[in-house]
Amino acid sequence: MLLDIMRAQMWKVFAFVILFSTVASLYAQQSTAKPEDTEVWQPEPKVVTPGAYCGAPPSDAIILFDGKNLDEWVSAQDRAAPAKWIVANSVVTVNKAAGNIETKRTFRNYQFHLEWRIPENISGSGQLRGNSGLFLASTGPEDAGYELQILDSYNNKTYVNGMAGSLYKQSIPLANPMRKPGEWQAYDVVWTAPVFNADGSLKSPAYATVFLNSVLVDNHFELKGETRYIGQPFYKKFDRAPIKLQAHDDPSPPISFRNIWVRELD
Ligand code: MG
Repeated sequence: MLLDIMRAQMWKVFAFVILFSTVASLYAQQSTAKPEDTEVWQPEPKVVTPGAYCGAPPSDAIILFDGKNLDEWVSAQDRAAPAKWIVANSVVTVNKAAGNIETKRTFRNYQFHLEWRIPENISGSGQLRGNSGLFLASTGPEDAGYELQILDSYNNKTYVNGMAGSLYKQSIPLANPMRKPGEWQAYDVVWTAPVFNADGSLKSPAYATVFLNSVLVDNHFELKGETRYIGQPFYKKFDRAPIKLQAHDDPSPPISFRNIWVRELD
């Protein structure tokens, strides 16, 4: 009996000694740690000269449209043909008869800036009011790919996963920061392209972070595949892809774009 009590006491002492020495050694480590231990000096971020104002292209941006011409663009229907939208007064306006246009260059992951304007005399309602689209990856002609919707969503009711700021029929924008028709809107996008295995299966999904007029509308949103007008989305293997702008056939007056640039992230 006495022996049992002594054994129990011994274990308590032993446990206390272990606990005490652990705490003491942690304390000793903390007291000998220096600020320099957690400082990282390499690799140094590259120097980028920012634009002169918010929205202006930084020094490492690829300029896709600066008001002069569509030299960086082709017809999405026939990539050998020029993009036949109308450039005037430093903006480019959709030519619905000419169809979608897309970049000559292809991209993987990037940061993107684009400004767009619904004309003041816009007409129509729902999806038939200033409909266009920014395809973050164009995987074929017409509307194949991953569309960030462009639409007049200023006092214009439609299904919420199809309004401006939506990844079409997949995301509901986190806010509606639209300006009035006639005013310029700005999209800033961070696009993480999907990655595929050799057999075509999905390795990692696509993500989009989108600011509309500097307000967050999609926060690292995980896409379920290509955006589709009808049916459920699914992924289809591709590698690099152009960025596409939509000439939607709604009968409302065409919309305009300006100041388009991209920064590649891979
Ligand atoms: Mg659209």
